[in-house]
Amino acid sequence: MQGSRSDLRVGLTFDDVLLVPKFSDVKSRRDADTRTRFSRRIELAIPIVSANMDTVTESAMAIALARLGGIGVIHRFLTLEEQVSEVLKVKRSEGVVIEDPVTLGPEATVRTAVKLIRDREVGGIVIIGPGRKVLGLVTRRDMTMEEDPDRKVEEVMTPRSKLITARRGVTLEEAKEILRANKVEKLPLVDAKGSLAGLITSKDITKRKQFPLATKDSKGRLRVAAAVGVKGDQMERSRKLFDAGADALVVDVAHGHSSRAIDTLREIKRSLGDVEVVAGNVATAKGAADLVKAGADAVKVGVGAGSICVTRVVTGSGVPQLTAIMDSADAAADSGVPIIGDGGIRNPGDVTKAVAAGASSVMIGSLFAGTEESPGPTVFREGARYKLTRGMASLAATLDRRMRESKATGLSEDELIGEIVEESVPEGVEGMIPYRGRVEEVVKQLVGGLRSGMSYSGAHDLPELRRNAEFMRITTAGLAESLPHDIQRVF
Ligand code: IMP
Repeated sequence: MQGSRSDLRVGLTFDDVLLVPKFSDVKSRRDADTRTRFSRRIELAIPIVSANMDTVTESAMAIALARLGGIGVIHRFLTLEEQVSEVLKVKRSEGVVIEDPVTLGPEATVRTAVKLIRDREVGGIVIIGPGRKVLGLVTRRDMTMEEDPDRKVEEVMTPRSKLITARRGVTLEEAKEILRANKVEKLPLVDAKGSLAGLITSKDITKRKQFPLATKDSKGRLRVAAAVGVKGDQMERSRKLFDAGADALVVDVAHGHSSRAIDTLREIKRSLGDVEVVAGNVATAKGAADLVKAGADAVKVGVGAGSICVTRVVTGSGVPQLTAIMDSADAAADSGVPIIGDGGIRNPGDVTKAVAAGASSVMIGSLFAGTEESPGPTVFREGARYKLTRGMASLAATLDRRMRESKATGLSEDELIGEIVEESVPEGVEGMIPYRGRVEEVVKQLVGGLRSGMSYSGAHDLPELRRNAEFMRITTAGLAESLPHDIQRVF
């Protein structure tokens, strides 16, 4: 046993503490600056990250969150092709210039075009010939008007002769003017030889104004991260996700202070070079320090804190989340590598506490799993709407994962289920959460709480919140006093 019985440390979590109010000259909540970093080189306007869980983050969540100034991590429980496609959907969702627009040849049928528009969630397709010569354009609207699915797209497209295009290198202002003057919504860009060089859409220009805080890359595309595992296809997956434009890879393993996680982190950094790699999960100073030493660009912290997690009950291992964040943040401080506090956020005040304790951002699972943008299924119980969520180490998630992999093992479904149920020691559970509307509403509450919390701490920005933070431990009576009490709650 390490350490003597008399000096057993106490581990604390969010509900064990409060931030002591400080003198404040923050005039309004709006003046509180929530800018931060997700990883060494990725900046965020708000410290909010959506969890890499299959009931939380696919492209819809990642797009919504990046528009608000956070970032989503696409989960890895998809085939490689599916995960790449989710990343591409985010990267293609907006941007001043879509560099690689969706295209088809002139012989393709309307049926193929309709399917492509639906699968890739785009508003139009550029029709190209040999040498990527622009031949025309079909839009979602052209397709819905067309009754014969077997017609060739060249028969229904707006042909090149009638198509409004612009030269490669057109400025945003010029493009806006061309779109407005010609009352069109899509502007294919062509080079000197008439070959396709990109696409600008009016929808993307509008969105630029609508989402001023959006997390974007140098090309104006929304940023997105993607998770990879540590055994199996992680190297091929990392390469393909990187090629698809993923801004960061997240080495996702329950016990990240392990040789497997460190080897994977090193190998990705070595083979891909210029990619941001987040590693985790750890819950200790030594864990964070070892990942920083191995080259992590951010460290994900949290063992056993998640709402759907039973790791601590099943294994006896873990660290209460506030202490885990404080210890890890202290260890990583000199390196400048950001800490992501992952799991256990139940209330807006928890975000303030996590950031004050040293986290640069927080990762959120179940609070987002109930939103419109999560991929989880919706269920109705006694007239109320819920969404389902599950731990990625739950029996159901393990079954699904192994079923997908079963094609490779050749076992029948029954044999496989029998084997898994017998062998599996789940560290996660399944559950339902009340439907919470759009993720924007939840983010508004979380960031609103954080801004008010900053004001109570006299902090104009997040580094100042950290410097000013004075935590006070409270008792169960203090916690009871913190919650609504002695009234019949109406709302
Ligand atoms: P939440 O925000 O409290 O729901 O926590 C989300 C976090 O829980 C995720 O980002 C993961 O780190 C963690 N998690 C997800 N699935 C499992 C599981 O099955 N067991 C343990 N932890 C999990």
